[in-house]
Amino acid sequence: MRAAAPRLALTLTTYLGLIPFEGWRFPTAWLVAMLILIVWERRRPGRPSWLLSLGYSGAAADLVMFHAGAAQTLGVTLFGVIIFEVLVSDYTDTRRLIVNLSPPLLSIVFIQLAAGAALLQGHEPLKVATLVASPIAVLSVFRNLQRKLTRNRSELSMARDAAEAAVVAKSDFLANMSHEIRTPLTSILGFTTLLENSQSLSEEARRHVRRIATGGQSLLVVVNDILDFSKLEANQVTLDPQPFNPLELLEGAVALVAGQAAAKGLALQTDIQGDLPPVVMADSDRLRQILLNLLTNAIKFTATGGVTVTARYHMASDRLSVAVRDTGPGIPAESRARLFTRFSQVDSSVSRRFGGTGLGLAICKALVGLMGGEIGVDSVEGEGSTFSFRVPAPVASAVIAPSASAPEGLGDPVRQGAILIADDVAHNRELVRIILETLGYTVDEAAGGAEAIQAAIAKPYDLILMDMQMPDVDGLAASRIIRAAGGQNATTPILAFSANVMADQIAECLAAGMNDHIAKPIQPAELLTKVARWLGPADEAEPIARQA
Ligand code: ADP
Repeated sequence: MRAAAPRLALTLTTYLGLIPFEGWRFPTAWLVAMLILIVWERRRPGRPSWLLSLGYSGAAADLVMFHAGAAQTLGVTLFGVIIFEVLVSDYTDTRRLIVNLSPPLLSIVFIQLAAGAALLQGHEPLKVATLVASPIAVLSVFRNLQRKLTRNRSELSMARDAAEAAVVAKSDFLANMSHEIRTPLTSILGFTTLLENSQSLSEEARRHVRRIATGGQSLLVVVNDILDFSKLEANQVTLDPQPFNPLELLEGAVALVAGQAAAKGLALQTDIQGDLPPVVMADSDRLRQILLNLLTNAIKFTATGGVTVTARYHMASDRLSVAVRDTGPGIPAESRARLFTRFSQVDSSVSRRFGGTGLGLAICKALVGLMGGEIGVDSVEGEGSTFSFRVPAPVASAVIAPSASAPEGLGDPVRQGAILIADDVAHNRELVRIILETLGYTVDEAAGGAEAIQAAIAKPYDLILMDMQMPDVDGLAASRIIRAAGGQNATTPILAFSANVMADQIAECLAAGMNDHIAKPIQPAELLTKVARWLGPADEAEPIARQA
């Protein structure tokens, strides 16, 4: 009983139908009351409109009970129309349905009872059976309907439960898959980094090692893309705006892909239009990720010519806009609209020349959206494409903090500190030990949580690296026990060292008393930066949970 126009039409028709039988006064009073109810109902949407239903039922009952011929036909029709309208509009809400259906149904029952009494008075008891038939028919339809609705509702809620369980299973699967792929990648990437630095390799062996490293890095990009996308889908990504220099960010990103462009003989240029503010506020890591995605695409798809990055700052709107233009193949107009949707690739044939997951642009769009900006593409087939985005980046006055201790190489000066590494995978322990010992740290190993607890009771450490997933006592439980024991390592920084990188898993580490998280596969630079940071002066060693 929601749309106003059909209701007005029904009201006016009923009014006109009542006049020949009731004169002017009663129908006009009825019309005014109904118009007031219609206006009132429109102002309070969602309220049961049982009063309107009562109004129509009253008019219908009057026509059926007190008149004959055409009036009765109109009355019965009116009953049918009201019941039908209520069924159609309120079938999803059982309570509303019952409330709104009650007036016509009760009126029909009442009319039949009155008619039954009249028949009995007129000594025609057999005809009462005919009267009883119609309420029974109405009630059985009503009961059937109610049963079907209840069944539909329980089927719907089962389907919803199944869908929710599937979402949970999907996110568990992604977390597990990411863990399982990252764990072997830790060895592949870590040991190839060590091998690349080895002096004893022949040139050919070094080239092979570089290929393994490039393959491993590509695999890591794919795993990260899938994980990023699922985190964005599950609303698990939060931005971390920090003051940064936009020009440095642009130049840094361009420098990172300069090698790829040079390898294809492409010109790579940066064109800054006007002045960029020295410091703006935005999530620079995510901006770099977007820019690198657009740049690597531009280089990947362009065979000759070049790629130009243009940037400008809009003072009036505090927005930074960046465009990446290439002289590649361009994108057909019909493909442009779906480019930013997941898994979408212009060439999805088996013969396609370029690899990729089709997730990069979907991630860019989601990140730009999260920042409150816009992203789009302009392209002319055969001439090239321009991907551009614009994001809020207010000018900041803050001084940019120097990036937490720059990554140190393996040959840097000797560092001090006793570190315990707990991991059930021997390769991982070996890799971390080699990286850290080369720098001068002392490293002890524990092959599980129980061993880590024993080691922490036996000796004070400056830092503990703790794998999360271990077969005996897991990293979370071990950290809780070390913290609760209150011994010599009660306040030692514990860094989760894990292939579990979903936001809720990192939050679990912090809740268990750990101080920070290092993702596997280990990037030596990240490992060294975090180790150096947590081994710094005591006042620097604040848990990230407390800083947030
Ligand atoms: P991926 O590159 O991993 O396939 P993206 O989401 O980054 O995934 O890109 C989706 C598709 O958009 C690409 O497969 C390609 O067909 C098209 N595309 C993206 N950038 C360009 C570009 N600069 N020139 C031509 N086509 C592009």
